[in-house]
Amino acid sequence: MALSTNLGFPRIGANRELKKALESYWKGNSTADDLQNTAIDMRMQHWTLQKEAGLDHIPSNDFSLYDQVLDMCATLGCVPERYGWNGGTVDLDTYFGMARGNAKAPAMEMTKWFDTNYHYIVPEFEAGQDFKLSSTKIFDEFIEAKEAGITTRPVLIGPCSFIFLGKQKDGDLDPPDLLEKILPVYEGILKKLADLGAEWVQIDEPMLALDICEGAGPAFQSTYKALSEAAPGLNILLATYFEGLRDNMNLAFSLPVQAVHLDLCRDPHQIKDAVSIVPEHMMLSLGVVDGRNIWRNNLHASLEMIEFVESHIGKDRIMVGPGCSLLHSPIDLDLETELDDNIKSWMAFAKQKLGEISALTKGANDGKEAIASVMEASDNVVSDRKTSTRIHNPAVQSRMNAMTDDMLNRESPFPVRQQAQRDSLNLPPFPTTTIGSFPQTPEIRKARSAFKKGTLDERAYESAMKKEIEHVVRYQEEIGMDVLVHGEPERNDMVEYFGEQMDGFTFTKNGWVQSYGSRCVKPPIIYGDVSRPDPMTVKWTSFAQSLTEKPMKGMLTGPITILCWSFERDDQPREKTCKQIAFAIRDEVADLEKAGITVIQIDEPAIREGQPLRQEDGAAYLKWAVDSFKLSCCCVADTTQVHTHMCYSEFNEIIDSIGALDADVISIEASRSQMELLEAFVAYKYPNEIGPGVYDIHSPRVPDTASMVALLEKAEKVLTPEQIWVNPDCGLKTRGWAEVEPALKNMVEAAKIIREKRKSAAA
Ligand code: GLN
Ligand code: ZN
Repeated sequence: MALSTNLGFPRIGANRELKKALESYWKGNSTADDLQNTAIDMRMQHWTLQKEAGLDHIPSNDFSLYDQVLDMCATLGCVPERYGWNGGTVDLDTYFGMARGNAKAPAMEMTKWFDTNYHYIVPEFEAGQDFKLSSTKIFDEFIEAKEAGITTRPVLIGPCSFIFLGKQKDGDLDPPDLLEKILPVYEGILKKLADLGAEWVQIDEPMLALDICEGAGPAFQSTYKALSEAAPGLNILLATYFEGLRDNMNLAFSLPVQAVHLDLCRDPHQIKDAVSIVPEHMMLSLGVVDGRNIWRNNLHASLEMIEFVESHIGKDRIMVGPGCSLLHSPIDLDLETELDDNIKSWMAFAKQKLGEISALTKGANDGKEAIASVMEASDNVVSDRKTSTRIHNPAVQSRMNAMTDDMLNRESPFPVRQQAQRDSLNLPPFPTTTIGSFPQTPEIRKARSAFKKGTLDERAYESAMKKEIEHVVRYQEEIGMDVLVHGEPERNDMVEYFGEQMDGFTFTKNGWVQSYGSRCVKPPIIYGDVSRPDPMTVKWTSFAQSLTEKPMKGMLTGPITILCWSFERDDQPREKTCKQIAFAIRDEVADLEKAGITVIQIDEPAIREGQPLRQEDGAAYLKWAVDSFKLSCCCVADTTQVHTHMCYSEFNEIIDSIGALDADVISIEASRSQMELLEAFVAYKYPNEIGPGVYDIHSPRVPDTASMVALLEKAEKVLTPEQIWVNPDCGLKTRGWAEVEPALKNMVEAAKIIREKRKSAAA
């Protein structure tokens, strides 16, 4: 019989119960017991839900109070010295100290979990790093479920991926040394789990979906040999996800484990190779239900895939599950009472996905007829989506078909545009500007939410926003900023604001997905062809421009970022969706220009994170990403200056693609790493103008003028003075006026000093 399985369930709670419990505990409004009781409740609810859905293998230890990688650090006693941990069991204070920082030490680093929008805590390895079992969480949760009558499959992050995901901090140990030290702890865990009655464990090795180095193969071999010998009766499911195994497939199937999980949502084609090389003693776990999206499964297609596998290896060696953990999908579609019924009928959240897994398993075991009614419902959705006029917009498609290469290029090359813009904008050398948003004060937030709720009428809302815009404009004029912004008070989120005004997008009320710790995001859903019925920003930008003689910068979010921070369509390639969004932004750009706006910024902070996991796929992605950006703005005259902005990640690797965007000006995060970014420009001559951020807006510190002058002088070593702009490294919306006011004043002062220095050097 085929078995139904799950790799992990969202832990935040359908009503974000865990978020609330955590934040209340952190504020000191509730006790550790209160928090643990909520956690116990949540776990029990989730196990019960999975049991009721009929799942055969239900995960445990997929729950976390903060992050599963942090849990693994605690389990292995991998606690950086600065937290002053006493070496016993890692207590709650130490745990949250590592996650969030405390009086003794700053938080551990956090970074994106592969290509998801989830962030994990990066393990740190120090000099003489040692590991020892330091948490009983994985056992406690197994026992907790067992006492409730559910024998779960505990989940662990595999030793190879754990070390791979970590970072050496003044460490002196190579990965093989670390592995050798860490293995005994893992062996002990498996032994103990077997003693407690576990039949299976799930060991996640997502690094197998990446390009791995040569030495990794033997390391995997010896690691898994040791693990399989540690607890001979315990079955190991080796879980891979987020990409196909490709050149790592032979390695994965050569390991002494009892099952391998494949993400067939990300790479359905790998199944052909997999059935031909899977050893006879091994089961295949088929990840056919998308754990990272909100679309209903095409049961027909999935069942076909399952039957194909069955014809090769038989039912008894099959598990059916989600592509990856359901952590990355919202929890319960039933709670969405305001979604359009038709669009809602196309969707499935985590809870509904459990039903799909269960149905598919039943279909595999008892035949299609046994699930005839759900199959029919699924078929109806597939055909409805194929023809729905909500999705397919002929105007958008004919526009896409009529796309030509010259839409992707500005009228003239950069040097010509640069001269034209110099003549028309008349900016001083080292021009100053900001990234867009100004502090979002409680009053702004209140007005916006009252307007959304309908308790503040449109006129009152508009006048509140206009007052704020005027304030921001006057302030910038007063300190002598060169290119002004309106401050974005009308936006709560840089993607949602645009999504709400475009066709093809919808929004949930409760579709939260964990981003990190207690933080959740509610991504927009792109369900159909994207277009922009009416101007989205022109009214605000024109109003702001009417207040000043200085150039007012129009502020837009770019197509790649809108795509990456939304749930995407699964019925067309991402490239196509991205280009549709690009056309919509292009319309906005054209309207801004028509309204007399001569500087337009299109933010693309997500360009780097949209990159595929495998290097060999990178070039194709960057090509359509760059094309989409250019499509979104290349309709303007030479005299219109296009800016872009990037932050949040290391851009050095893709610096030539950033150059290829051909934006007239880019502002880019650089101040935190003391201009580490600039190293990229030693080898690569960035062709256009650039503002390497000189003010770190992530810190409450007010930078002084001298420090910013120093950063600009550093920039001058690798850039020409004509290229350099002076700006903060990101938007100011999370800061308060008390910091922003002096900081920007100092920044403008720094620009003046640098200008004077250059002038006297030239004289
Ligand atoms: N224009 C946006 C802002 O200033 C950019 C935000 C971002 O880079 N994430 O807030
Ligand atoms: Zn930014």
